[in-house]
Amino acid sequence: MSQFSQVILKPGKDQSLLRFHPWVFSGAIKQIDGSVIEGDVVEVFDCHKNFLGIGHYQIGSIAVRILSFQRVVPDIQFWIGKLSKALALRQALGFVNNPQTNAYRLVHGEGDGLPGLIIDFYAGTAVVQMHSVGMYLSRDLIYEALQAVMGNNLEAIYEKSEGTLPYKANVNPENGYIKGKSATHVALENGLKFNVDWEKGQKTGFFVDQRDNRAMVEHYAKGRNVLNMFCYTGGFSFYAMRGGANMVHSVDSSERAIELTKANVELNYPGDSRHEAFAEDAFRYMERSKNRYDLIILDPPAFAKHQNVLANALQGYRRLNAKAFEQIAPGGILFTFSCSQVVTKENFRTTVFSAAAKAGRQVRVINQLTQPADHPINIYHPEGEYLKGLVLFVE
Ligand code: SAH
Repeated sequence: MSQFSQVILKPGKDQSLLRFHPWVFSGAIKQIDGSVIEGDVVEVFDCHKNFLGIGHYQIGSIAVRILSFQRVVPDIQFWIGKLSKALALRQALGFVNNPQTNAYRLVHGEGDGLPGLIIDFYAGTAVVQMHSVGMYLSRDLIYEALQAVMGNNLEAIYEKSEGTLPYKANVNPENGYIKGKSATHVALENGLKFNVDWEKGQKTGFFVDQRDNRAMVEHYAKGRNVLNMFCYTGGFSFYAMRGGANMVHSVDSSERAIELTKANVELNYPGDSRHEAFAEDAFRYMERSKNRYDLIILDPPAFAKHQNVLANALQGYRRLNAKAFEQIAPGGILFTFSCSQVVTKENFRTTVFSAAAKAGRQVRVINQLTQPADHPINIYHPEGEYLKGLVLFVE
């Protein structure tokens, strides 16, 4: 008898796992043999008792998140194996010991075969965020494996899972250092400096997923009047400045975000009067602003976290983009994004295009953007492609 409880699926419900999709929905389960508690490792079988995979059990619509389609035990060797693979990809991508960029995503959940686990690396500090109870309960092994794999490159580990685990699971995570203390909070991205506040900031402290898209803004910024809407820590703004923008305005409704943006601009371009920042609601700012911008970036927070609010979210994207199309100067360039997982690429395009039509502007797509290579997409889990962006030339 196995040491793990066994989840038996209903007839026909094994198909998605046979195609390596890593989730078992609660409705697919026929029975569970053994006493299981939330966060346990379980083995999953089809209705004929053929083994399908092992994973973390959780109460909710996704009942099991698969860790392996092989019959393995998730011991320290297992975790070292998984994290080594994740690191090998980042090494192949040139992120490790890179003098220009020392902020990257080391583990991207399903994209690295580790559903429920995010690890971002910032200049020696690994910020670890668990999104499943199973990952949280596995944390000691994960930290041990992380140290084994990263060796001297790792100065500190900061755990940040308050607010990312189901409240009812009652595991009460507390944010804090697991190992060491970071010597610096300043990281580098393509040679630009920025302060990462993993203790109080959103997500793990910085949005590393916009790295390549920021570089494209730099490429187009020369001589332009730039509006960086939803700027958070100002990433797009200091790239635009390096690209030779004429003026850069950063806007975010959060006062704290505006402070962070100002500090980051100061780190790179002290005293540069081309930059100004405003703590204000996006719609209100665009209503009142008399400026004619010819490069606008719209990178709003996820408007839809769940399928059932999709229609409202699309309406939000339409209104927001329509405002930008009304405002932007002829010959302007609009970078527009959606990071909602439930909004598909097609949905997003249709919404943005209808906003352009509503504003009566002639618009051409010049680039189509997505998430960077350190946020890989597991081909058996296409939902992992969450970041969508369009670069539009507006006549
Ligand atoms: N572009 C950023 C990430 C944006 S995250 C980067 O490159 O790092 C989304 C941001 O939108 C958050 O900082 C949040 O404070 C801000 N925000 C949310 N609602 C807003 C609103 N109504 N008006 C302006 N900003 C808003």
